[in-house]
Amino acid sequence: MSVVVKLEDVHKSFGLVEVLRGVSFEVSAGEVVAIIGRSGSGKSTALRCINRLEKIQSGSIEVCGRRVEAPDLDLRALRQDVGIVFQSYNLFPHLTVEENIVLAPRRVKNVKGAEAHALARTALEQVGLSDKIDAYPEQLSGGQQQRVAIARSLAMSPKVMLFDEVTSALDPELTGEVLRVMEKLAKGGMTMIMVTHEMGFARRAADRVIYMHTGKVWETGTGAMLGSPQTPELKNFLANEL
Ligand code: ADP
Ligand code: MG
Repeated sequence: MSVVVKLEDVHKSFGLVEVLRGVSFEVSAGEVVAIIGRSGSGKSTALRCINRLEKIQSGSIEVCGRRVEAPDLDLRALRQDVGIVFQSYNLFPHLTVEENIVLAPRRVKNVKGAEAHALARTALEQVGLSDKIDAYPEQLSGGQQQRVAIARSLAMSPKVMLFDEVTSALDPELTGEVLRVMEKLAKGGMTMIMVTHEMGFARRAADRVIYMHTGKVWETGTGAMLGSPQTPELKNFLANEL
């Protein structure tokens, strides 16, 4: 299977503090990987480095055959290949759902008119919100807004999607609908790396789970690893999560 994302011995510091201390992992096409770990363990930083929102000090990151740290990196091409969705969905309040979704494709790919409309419709179908195409963000629940944010990413036809605790800001009753959308994407063959605190979801939806601790990949395995942690650190983490 082709490798979509590959980190090799990645080191990342903020000032004197090293927050990624030799992180290596690979994600193949169609694979769904969940990253779990305590707050501050470097999960978000790892995702942000993949999209070059952060620069690394040493090691290498490859995305779709592209060296992310190369001086001549085509940043625009990288960002087209890598969709990223955050906890805060940041939709433009003065734009409709459709306008929010087609903003980037219009700017980057010069998509317009009927083609743009079709793009928005297809993306909204994927997140089950076809009927909200003309709504404004404030007319939607938090869960629906987050699903629109996912649709906005999908409209760029990314090769890999990164999700950083996308349900953490939502009320518990709205979490399920967003997780279901992610599970559907996963089943549809999307390559995904998701940072999540939802252990049940990680176990169910992920092909592989990576437990990060103090800036390192501490333990990795299938979802079943959450039922039989090998290290005291993961045991302890799971005991506090559940
Ligand atoms: P996680 O997502 O696992 O909670 P983060 O990757 O956000 O962890 O953060 C890892 C460490 O890096 C934390 O100690 C955090 O304070 C620090 N950190 C993250 N971003 C920055 C930044 N822009 N400047 C300085 N320190 C940062
Ligand atoms: Mg984080």
